[in-house]
Order: sequence, then structure tokens, then C-alpha cells
Amino acid sequence: MTAPQQIVIVGGGLAGAKTAEALRTQGFAGRLTLLAAENHLPYERPPLSKGYLAGQASFDEATVHPSQWYRDNDIDLRLGIRATAIDAAAHQVRLADGSSIGYEKLVLATGALPRRLPLPGADADGVHYLRTREDADAIRAHFGASKRLAIIGGGWIGLEVAAAARTADTQVTIFEAAPLPLLGVLGPELAQVFADLHTAHGVELRLGARIDAITSTDGAATGVRLADGSTIDADAVVIGVGVAPDVRLAELAGLQVDNGVLVDASLRSSDPDIYAVGDIANHDHPVLGRRVRVEHWATALNQPATAAAALLGQQATYTELPYFFSDQYELGMEYLGHAPNGSYDQLVVRGDLAKREFVAFWLTDSRIIAAMNVNVWDVLDQIKPLIVGGTLIDTDLLADPDVSYATL
Ligand code: FAD
Repeated sequence: MTAPQQIVIVGGGLAGAKTAEALRTQGFAGRLTLLAAENHLPYERPPLSKGYLAGQASFDEATVHPSQWYRDNDIDLRLGIRATAIDAAAHQVRLADGSSIGYEKLVLATGALPRRLPLPGADADGVHYLRTREDADAIRAHFGASKRLAIIGGGWIGLEVAAAARTADTQVTIFEAAPLPLLGVLGPELAQVFADLHTAHGVELRLGARIDAITSTDGAATGVRLADGSTIDADAVVIGVGVAPDVRLAELAGLQVDNGVLVDASLRSSDPDIYAVGDIANHDHPVLGRRVRVEHWATALNQPATAAAALLGQQATYTELPYFFSDQYELGMEYLGHAPNGSYDQLVVRGDLAKREFVAFWLTDSRIIAAMNVNVWDVLDQIKPLIVGGTLIDTDLLADPDVSYATL
């Protein structure tokens, strides 16, 4: 295969910026265009629910590269420009201003969008989702000692917003439909750890909550009404009920789409000239032996190097295990692997759940499929070979903090 001369990347988030970087690092010298719908330099989103939201970190710290870097690397970064259609047969991307750009190879990195809740009152002022810098700024404006924040959804985003809001002394109520926050991701034992953490920090948890409406006066949110008729007053409402991959362009391009863009092990879509990376990529994972679409920072950070290599004609497959992290108050955690609901038959804990200092392991058929370290650090590199190698585990030894991972 001859090397392409013109590559277009659609989506100026972490995955898009890292793809541009990887292409240049790997020697691509042709024309490189990065289309970014947002009017900001590509940035990382994790700070939007942590340090940036809490007002403790600047936006510049979250940008992937300063603007000079794009100039130095001859990357045609177009901010505030949305791609509106892809003509795959003609190898053209149409832009919102009516112009078009041709490509030899295209990378889709359009990310994900918050799932909307079709609740009465959800369009009132003071109701927010959290995906962009503007969203974070709008939510932070409701923080403060005399303010009350209602958060709908006890997932990672809801809990992190709660932690940032409490840090600013805001009163916080979380409404979660399930019996515990994070229940679907972590299972009951570990979900309880996060419930206890937030209760200890003064968050009111309304579990098993059925919400009827967001109440409002003169178009501004005033709280939440539950199915039992009771109301809880709030100055603002944050809805965090998950995201959906933004596959609008992929569908217009005629790509195979099913919970994201279907890509092979090398991140190539059903069109050999189009690749997908980050939150939108539903990847045929060679190590896990199944498809996964991972909505986390590390995937957006790491997949681009593989996509770039494959685009430039090398044999490359993405083999990294899914990884993510979260920070809430004094709790920091990392999670490696993939243990969706119903996929494991055993949970083993090494350490102390009550002190929130432990490593948890999800196993199936006595093999670790995922691990989470909470306030314990530098262990994932030792645990990773056990997951990748499918090592048969003695669970008594696994639970014993005096047994080294190498021994296992
Ligand atoms: P995105 O970051 O969504 O970027 C896609 C970009 O493409 C957007 O800027 C979008 O405007 C642009 N775009 C879309 N369509 C077009 C178009 N047609 N034309 C031009 N541009 C377009 N992950 C963790 O592992 N740990 C965390 O602690 C964590 N915290 C998070 C906190 C928040 C508040 C959020 C929102 C996410 C968090 N994540 C976290 C998830 C992580 O940020 C995402 O997985 C990551 O942003 C995905 O990167 P991406 O580049 O694939 O997509």
C-alpha cells in the first residue's frame, strides 16, 4: 500500500488530537486536517467533573496541546467547524459552511453525547448535562454554601459532580433509580462503598427514586417531583444518565453501526478508508475476544497510535485492556479489565472496604477479568499479566495482602 497524502480527522476531542499527534510522530508528512466542532483547543474531559468544575484547576491544564503545537506540526486545526456529511464513495467531507474537503483516509473521533431524559421540565433553565467546558461553567455557577443541587443519576459523572459541589459547600441530593449508585458497574458490595463515601460527606442519597418531573417557576428549575408526589427543592438540576456514541456522520457515510462504529482489531470500519477511535469505536478486541465500546479517557488516549499505524499501512491491533479512573473527595480509584453485569461469578477483596483502601477482583471460572484499586497505588502493572494471561487463581492467596502478585 502506498502511504496516503491527505488524512482528515473529524472530532477535536482527546482521540482526534491524539490521532493527529500519532500520525505526525509515526512519520506521516502529508496534509492533515483536524475538524473540531467546539470552539476550544482539543481538551480532556475528566477535569470537567473534578478540578476544573471545583474551580481548582484552569482550563489550559486540560488542553491536549497548546495552539502553537498544531502550527509546529503542520496540522490544519479548524475550530468551531462541524462536519455535516461524508460522501464515502467520493471521499469527501462536507462542512457546515457549505465547503467540502477531500480525503484519502478519514478518522472519525466524534465522541459521545449525554443521554437526554424525556422528563417534563427538563428544558427549564438551570437543568444541565455535563459534557463540555460550557456545561461545567454553567454547573459551577450554581455552587455555594446557600445553594441546593439536585443530581439525577448516581453514575460516575453524578458522583463526581456531587463531590465537587460538596467541596464548595453546596447542598446535594442524588436521585438514583437503582438501590445503590454504580450498582450496575460495580455490584452491591462495592457500590455500597461509594454510597457510604457520599453519605459521609453530607450528600443526601435518594435511592430507588422514581422521578415524575423537574419542577419550575417562570421557566427556571425549582426542584424535582417524585412519583409519590413529594417534591425536593433545588436551585439547579444536573442530569447524568450516561452517554450515547455520536454516530450521526458514520450513519450518513453508510458505515456499519451498532452501539458505535463497528471497527476491527486495527480500528478500521466497514469502509477500508475510514477508521474510528475513542468513545464511538465499537472495537473487536483481540484479547477480550469480544466487542467492546469503552467510554473512557485511556481508550481515547491510546487507540490513536494503533489507528495511525494501521492507516500508514502497518499491521497493528489495539490490545490494551479497558482502563479508567475516578477521583471523589479523598478517594482515588483505578479500574482495569472488563466485568459487565452477569459476566463474573466471584468477587474477591484484598484490603479493607470500610477504610476505603483495597483492591477488588472480579473473577470468572477462577480467572481475574477485572480489578479495581481504591486508595492503593502502583498495583495494576502487577495485576495486568494475571488478567491478560488468564491465570488460574487461588482466591485465598489473592485475598491475602501479604502474598505478592508475582507469586500468584
Ligand atoms: P469526545 O471527548 O467526546 O470528543 C469528541 C469531539 O468531537 C467533541 O469535541 C465534539 O464536539 C466533536 N465532534 C463531534 N461531531 C463532530 C463533527 N461532526 N464535526 C466536528 N467535530 C465533531 N474517563 C475516565 O476514564 N475517567 C474519568 O475520570 C472521566 N471523567 C469524565 C468526566 C466528564 C465530565 C466527561 C464528560 C467524561 C469523562 N470521562 C472520563 C470520559 C472521557 O472524557 C471520554 O472517554 C473521552 O472524552 C472520549 O474522547 P473522544 O475524543 O472519543 O470524544
